[in-house]
Amino acid sequence: MEFEELVCYSQTIILIVLGIGYVINLRNKTKQPKLKSENKCPLCSYIILDQSVNYCAKCGNMFSHSDGLSLKK
Ligand SMILES: [Zn+2]
Repeated sequence: MEFEELVCYSQTIILIVLGIGYVINLRNKTKQPKLKSENKCPLCSYIILDQSVNYCAKCGNMFSHSDGLSLKK
């Protein structure tokens, strides 16, 4: 294999690895907002800002944080 060919080959691999990393990063980013930063009331869509509160301040609906999410260890 010639040197230029080798460089071209390794660059292609780097691009593929970067692409995969980008996709994984993108998936993590799209997942996080739903689980972490926003807590929405399922009934009235009121956004609960306090993460420790598990009821809606607007309509008083109670909801649990533990619907199978693997956030807490
Ligand atoms: Zn509500």
